[in-house]
Amino acid sequence: MKYTCECCGEEKEDWPALAYNAPDFYYNLSDEELKTAILNSDLCIVENPESSHRFIRAVLIQEVHNDCRNLDYGIWVSLSEKNFTEYVDNYHNKEFKAEYFGWLNTYFPDYDFSESIPTTVVVDNSIGRPFVFPHQSFEHPFVEDFYNGISVEEAEKRIKRVLNV
Ligand SMILES: [Zn+2]
Repeated sequence: MKYTCECCGEEKEDWPALAYNAPDFYYNLSDEELKTAILNSDLCIVENPESSHRFIRAVLIQEVHNDCRNLDYGIWVSLSEKNFTEYVDNYHNKEFKAEYFGWLNTYFPDYDFSESIPTTVVVDNSIGRPFVFPHQSFEHPFVEDFYNGISVEEAEKRIKRVLNV
């Protein structure tokens, strides 16, 4: 869909959101573990005898240099059991707001994620899905790109990879 951009007056086409349907943790489960895992469009619970893991779907907005558009990601973060339970309890409460600590659990192919990325998850149900902000003090190319922006070429490369064109 082409449209005339309100900020620069140029003709633009919306970029698709780059959305992941499950946390990476889920994609790595064995067939046996998958039997007891729960996944829907917003929540994922994996209960093992030794440990349990809880994830929520969130939004990450990657700024792009010299373009009015941002790259929107649909990603997953893990929450503590307490915070996850609070989030689920307030799932239909449009006035609910909260800030949680979360570990990023979507590893974009554009980076090497050998360490987990700490994030702040900002919940405001009046807007929609929570927004994720990686901790700025954490040294990682992904965090640098989030705060400094990426080029239009890089954004288009990422979109093409996801769309397989
Ligand atoms: Zn514009």
